[in-house]
Amino acid sequence: MRALRLVAPRRAECVEVPEPSPGPGEVRVRIDACGVCGSDLNSWRGVPGVEFPLPAGAPGHETYGEVLALGQDVVGLGVGQRVTGLMWNGFAESGIASVDNLLPVPVELGPGPVIGEPLACAMNVIRRSGVAPGDRVAIVGFGYLAALVAHLLPTEPGEWIAISRRCESRALARHMGASAVYDFSSVPDSAWDSFDIVIEATGVQAALDVATWLTASAGRLVIAGYHADGPRTVNMQSWNWKGIDVINAHARRPDVYLDALRRSFEVLRQRPLPALVSHTWPLDRAADAFAAAEARPPGFTKGLVIP
Ligand SMILES: [Zn+2]
Repeated sequence: MRALRLVAPRRAECVEVPEPSPGPGEVRVRIDACGVCGSDLNSWRGVPGVEFPLPAGAPGHETYGEVLALGQDVVGLGVGQRVTGLMWNGFAESGIASVDNLLPVPVELGPGPVIGEPLACAMNVIRRSGVAPGDRVAIVGFGYLAALVAHLLPTEPGEWIAISRRCESRALARHMGASAVYDFSSVPDSAWDSFDIVIEATGVQAALDVATWLTASAGRLVIAGYHADGPRTVNMQSWNWKGIDVINAHARRPDVYLDALRRSFEVLRQRPLPALVSHTWPLDRAADAFAAAEARPPGFTKGLVIP
């Protein structure tokens, strides 16, 4: 079968590899779509700690597909079932996953790709933020993950606003129900220290600073962005003075992910996801998918590789 292999920073090859066979408790999944995640860009760029070549199919983890074969002792999934969940070799025609890390995709969610991993991430962000009816929420950065968070918010937050440097992301936030949208340079002073919950969803220093300013006294600053390119500096005095809770909303435990994914499906049954995928590429053009995720050309929201 064909798979993507990252062989050097910003160099991807489409290679022929043996078809993997599932071990006990595992299934083989035909990959119908695999999202390119912002966190994949660390492998693409070759940040410190990344060793080339990466295993075939890595770091594709936003997978959706159909069960092709079952290993020994697999219960709960059958051949032909549409699944999503956690896998790490998804830039390939097929991949192996533990049966414990996958969920069947409910038929009510429609025929299109349902990319589970970022949905679970977004649901974890909401769970960790503890958002309750009446809370004022600010989302700092409005890319794909932030849009999922906005969609999965409880239907009655007090109000939510979005801050993004991209005009079209602000337009998307407006479309999705934001009561106000701002560029980073135009956040009014009145917004400072006023939000019960601030969700930082960029992974960059400047946004972390803005998120600190926006958080109200005794509010919650929730880190959803993936800060992978070095240490950050924080305004500890402001955190201390305002007595805020600072929450790292990342999760690594598969059972936590699966639980969040299940709960995101419940929301999507009531409120179908708007179309957020802007680009698709075949496997042999996956390098273009990474390049676009990095450059974010006009009109780009989210890219999928379709093996
Ligand atoms: Zn991801």
